[in-house]
Amino acid sequence: MKIRLFFTFFLIFTSSLFADTNGIYDIRGSSPLLDTNLTQFLDKWRYETIAPVQNGTYKNVFVNGNTTQKTVALTFDDSPDENNTDKVLDVLSRYNVKASFFMIASPMNDANATTVTRASNEGHLVLGHCFTHPRLTDLTPEAITQQLNTTSERIEALTGKYPILYRPPYGSINQSVVDTVNTNGFATILWSLDSLDWAIKDSNAIVNNVITHIRDGDIILMHSSQANAATVQALPEIIEKLHTLGYTFLKVDEILGLKAYKQ
Ligand SMILES: [Zn+2]
Repeated sequence: MKIRLFFTFFLIFTSSLFADTNGIYDIRGSSPLLDTNLTQFLDKWRYETIAPVQNGTYKNVFVNGNTTQKTVALTFDDSPDENNTDKVLDVLSRYNVKASFFMIASPMNDANATTVTRASNEGHLVLGHCFTHPRLTDLTPEAITQQLNTTSERIEALTGKYPILYRPPYGSINQSVVDTVNTNGFATILWSLDSLDWAIKDSNAIVNNVITHIRDGDIILMHSSQANAATVQALPEIIEKLHTLGYTFLKVDEILGLKAYKQ
């Protein structure tokens, strides 16, 4: 009898562990403005990408922070540009919020180099988003290695810090990409809440999507490149509303307990 009772508790305990997917969230983010085909494509991509992270097949791939703390991380992809990146930095500075930027190295030129150094000097993370924004799943291990290293070298030349956290363009990874990234000493940072700013381009819809889906520990995907003026418009309201809900903003290294830069 005692053994049976023990087994019952054991089963309840282990099944609750699996239901929890090891504290790794499914990716959220939806909008009535998104068409059905894109929604279906995203659902499929999210499942195929996240399942191997949740079941432990992909190592060193991160989706969200601590699910029991009222902290979130704002992340901005596709910087730098000469326009919106500085506007995003202005908003963050106004609210004294620190964020994480995943930057593409090839657009870094004389005109926007100051934006890269500014982001770093103002206390944000400047991390890699590859050199030319390719789908890493299309590349050889050698080409992936080159994308990672040349990007971090370019960032180091501008900020003095060599990033070892990166975000794959389009979130496009597979086992081979993850293995190559890990061999090079980098960690992969995905996201758990997609603001969908890249698709919906409507500031109210972006705010609603983020606020209605927010969970403790979320890493929020946004974009700060030329095509994302709606993100700049949405950002003050997102920050104010998340503050009202009791959230503290952390950078991805803080929310994940990882080292952002090589020392
Ligand atoms: Zn991107």
